[in-house]
Amino acid sequence: MIQDILGHKYNLAYKNIKPNDDSIVLCYKKGYVCLNSDKSFIKYSDLLNEKIVFGFMVDDVSYFISLDDVGFTSYPINLFREIEPRYLGFIIITGYHLYNFYVNNKYCARCGKLIRPSVKIRSLKCTCGNEVFPTIAPAVIIGLLNKDHSKIMLTKYRIGYNNYALVAGYNEIGETLEDTVRREVMEEVGLSVKNVRYYKSQPWGLSGSVLSGFWADISDLDDNPKVDLEELKLAKWASRDEIEILDDGVSLTREMINYFKSGKNIDL
Ligand SMILES: [Zn+2]
Repeated sequence: MIQDILGHKYNLAYKNIKPNDDSIVLCYKKGYVCLNSDKSFIKYSDLLNEKIVFGFMVDDVSYFISLDDVGFTSYPINLFREIEPRYLGFIIITGYHLYNFYVNNKYCARCGKLIRPSVKIRSLKCTCGNEVFPTIAPAVIIGLLNKDHSKIMLTKYRIGYNNYALVAGYNEIGETLEDTVRREVMEEVGLSVKNVRYYKSQPWGLSGSVLSGFWADISDLDDNPKVDLEELKLAKWASRDEIEILDDGVSLTREMINYFKSGKNIDL
């Protein structure tokens, strides 16, 4: 998955340091990452009077984030899926999550004043005392299985991502992740579930989320999906032989679909 940057080490400890001329600065616009024309990262010496914050380290390299628009070539943020070497994709998507946190919190939501980064930890602090931490939205991805575990429920969203996906949705306030699984399955395909069991999780900076993957068995006798057509284009049961989606080594959704296809143990 995107966060498995084998051979490299992600270090998110916050540092109150300034960039030097050779420092890498991750630059974005809404939906885009800005890079040099050869798709290399932009250096601090290439920027003028930019608002910059420290982001994180990978190995012994510090990555800073620009909070201003810059005049460089911009590429759709989905570039992170294909850029080589692969660990750079994790850097791009994680920096994008941080970029959105800072630009979406320019002013204090309590008093309306400009809010500034803290010096000791990764947060924004206002003189009124309000402190804002990076926002991470918890969501679930559900490998919904039929009675004999011979099929998995695949969906297609009505808008956005156009490939097959799994039933998924955001956790609501006051709800456990297991409750989110039960509610989202009922909302999207009108089925009840039992045996909700955790698989793995994944940070997903594109939507500012942390995704938790669960397997769940249907508990209804009638397993025909009652599809929520406002949210989904379709939902259908697929056997292992019918699945043609490859694991791209990036997303938890694809890993779970291919984990099922491979016939590995889903009774965990
Ligand atoms: Zn304030």
